[in-house]
Amino acid sequence: MAACARDLIEGCGLPRLEARMLLERALDVNRAWLIAHDADPLPDERVAVFREWAGRRLRGEPMAYLLGEREFMGHVFQVTPAVLIPRPETELLVETALADLRDRPAPRVLDLGTGSGAIAIAIALARPDARVEATDLSPDALGVAAANADRLGAAVALHQGDWYEALKHRDAAPIYDLIVSNPPYIAADDAHLSQGDLRYEPATALTDRADGLQALRAIVAGAPAWLRRGGALWVEHGWDQAAQVRDLLTAAGLCGVGSRRDLAGIERISGGYL
Ligand code: GLN
Repeated sequence: MAACARDLIEGCGLPRLEARMLLERALDVNRAWLIAHDADPLPDERVAVFREWAGRRLRGEPMAYLLGEREFMGHVFQVTPAVLIPRPETELLVETALADLRDRPAPRVLDLGTGSGAIAIAIALARPDARVEATDLSPDALGVAAANADRLGAAVALHQGDWYEALKHRDAAPIYDLIVSNPPYIAADDAHLSQGDLRYEPATALTDRADGLQALRAIVAGAPAWLRRGGALWVEHGWDQAAQVRDLLTAAGLCGVGSRRDLAGIERISGGYL
């Protein structure tokens, strides 16, 4: 007998919400349809697709990669295993950056290591007058970012390369009102790298393969050459890195250095002004 939605959701071993989301995607239907048709027989080949995804999810594959998307700042971003999955705590970085841009008309913005493009695109969509640029070392990531910018109708100029080296086609100039980054900040020996979603995400987006501060050092040290006077730098970092990042920001000559707590009460981002 053909399977129905109710049996598949109850019998697959996944949390209900995850099972529903995968089934909706496998059937290409919405939540209302699924509820209204929960006892209907479903096409075998769609059921097979669902079972395959459910099996992968049970083995630990992230929902965002199975669904191919994740919501961030109210926009749906396509994600592939070439990019980090956008995290809710990173919305704090965008919200803080946008608050700093409030009184700056037509600001110029740089997002270093953009991955899916989530940060740069969310800023560009919130501030259509901004000129937003973003970099990534990974050409595959830049492909995802370009597709997201295109789909969401955001104007973001993309550059390939390692942090500021991506801008090597021009001389360092104090042009940016804002530099933001969510760099790899997990130390090479952190056990979390072999747990949960992180096992499936690109290692280069997660860890600097050193003490966790390597990328943050490069980003902070390079910022003064590119920031306009009064321009802001905001970076995301690990739960225990805030004091060290504030020291880096101060050592780079930035003022008004401070950190902000995420919804979990963790100092998650730090920044300062030139
Ligand atoms: N916030 C991510 C995590 O700890 C790490 C992202 C990063 O290294 N930038 O799961």
